[in-house]
Amino acid sequence: MAKRRAEVDVSHCVSCGACENVCPREAVKVVRGCHAQVDAEKCIGCGLCAKACPSGAATVKALEGES
Ligand code: SF4
Ligand code: SF4
Repeated sequence: MAKRRAEVDVSHCVSCGACENVCPREAVKVVRGCHAQVDAEKCIGCGLCAKACPSGAATVKALEGES
């Protein structure tokens, strides 16, 4: 299985914290009340944040070089 990681499009993030609440690894956090940020070291690519995100800002992508 390809490795996947979450990404946040900060221009669409509304800082609601839904991703932070559902992440099983505490890999995504709303920083300074500003926008969510993913810790790629912790993220397991489960996709829960992307499902919970109301604005479509959080997405999960395959890592580059892998398919
Ligand atoms: S993909 Fe899963 S582990 Fe990664 S930030 Fe989103 S909820 Fe957390
Ligand atoms: S769920 Fe989406 S909009 Fe809400 S803080 Fe996370 S990335 Fe931003």
